[in-house]
Amino acid sequence: MVDRSTAHALDAADPLAPLRDRFALPPETIYLDGNSLGARPRSAAARLVVAVRDEWGTGLVRSWNDAGWYTEPARVAARIAPLLGADPDEVVVADSTSVNLFKLLVAGARLRPGRTVILTSTRDFPTDVYLARAAAELLGCELRGVDGPDAVPAALDRDVAVVALCHVDFRTGALADAHGLTAAAHAVGALTLWDLSHSTGALDVDLHGWAADLAVGCGYKFLNGGPGAPAYAFAARVHQEELRSPLPGWFSHADPFAFDPDFTPVPGITRLACGTPPVLSLLGLAEGVASLDGVTPAALAAKAHGLTGLFVELVDRHCPEVEVASPRVAEARGAQVALRHPRAYPLVRALAARGVVGDFRTPDLARFGFAPAYTRYADVADAVGVLRAVLDHDDLDRLEPAQHHAVR
Ligand SMILES: *Cc1c(COP(=O)(O)O)cnc(C)c1O
Repeated sequence: MVDRSTAHALDAADPLAPLRDRFALPPETIYLDGNSLGARPRSAAARLVVAVRDEWGTGLVRSWNDAGWYTEPARVAARIAPLLGADPDEVVVADSTSVNLFKLLVAGARLRPGRTVILTSTRDFPTDVYLARAAAELLGCELRGVDGPDAVPAALDRDVAVVALCHVDFRTGALADAHGLTAAAHAVGALTLWDLSHSTGALDVDLHGWAADLAVGCGYKFLNGGPGAPAYAFAARVHQEELRSPLPGWFSHADPFAFDPDFTPVPGITRLACGTPPVLSLLGLAEGVASLDGVTPAALAAKAHGLTGLFVELVDRHCPEVEVASPRVAEARGAQVALRHPRAYPLVRALAARGVVGDFRTPDLARFGFAPAYTRYADVADAVGVLRAVLDHDDLDRLEPAQHHAVR
């Protein structure tokens, strides 16, 4: 049995413990997948009912003004900014992470005319690599792919326009040295583009402290915006005036309702918007971000390190046959831990059947996210107890690959 007394003591001393009440979580579930889809803020259901029934149903088109739909993206962006260590006028909420990556890869490379290389890690999340390749093709640049962020410094030279990297390795949770790599990129005159999808809302993101140039990230993971919530993009103020989006839709125009046939970009970060925002999803994101109000990135990171640290310690002690595939030093990993197991997919399914929800990453990782806003230390201890029970009692050979779900 996994002893819960240490976990209870940690929960009792946890300054973020009261945040859990802001979320609606099913009582029988230990949810360790907030890095894939964040939990629902309690306030989201009522807010969306008002939006659908009253603002859409009764207000109709007037709600763009009367209910504040038109100005909502800027309000949500201003709330995300402190979680990024950025200012409100450096953040825009729009589109998906993938689309924002494409816009900033192209716009960023065009800030360094004459340079011919986009540098990235081929271990990054595949959408990031696909889009870096597509941007390089469009620009007539070379895509220089290296094997992990540690290999970036040796690949830097004065041909590199943009270094595009994920802050957290989506498989192992290994954290890139954003501050050091940004400085290395700047030393050769290159710009950085950070993907913060697995960081914001859980880690100590500090774009100003890193001197970062450009960044993107996801609204539905640790920001709890709901499935498919819009994403955000960041551009440091110094770059904004020069920045030209390759997707200059009417919402990036200085005056969309002038219906001007000529394009004039709006001053500032809003030029990275493109078209009409998905208002219902945006309002879900507004509730998700509001659920982190008053919490600092440093406090979120401290708890994430505490939760992942306890998980690693208990897995080592109680499940020694499972390999911890994440960095062992808390400061070197994100808010997630991956366990390597030859039957990782059946393992994840068996855990879910017993109420512990994580996810599988091919070929052999069982991945667990520890959202600091709503995960308790007791959940960590209980999850390891269930893992021990699965390893002891469940037949992991009975689930065949044919039983894979489409979304894993
Ligand atoms: C989740 C995630 C995405 C998701 O992109 P979408 O456009 O929302 O599908 C992209 N990049 C990284 C690193 C992610 O973790």
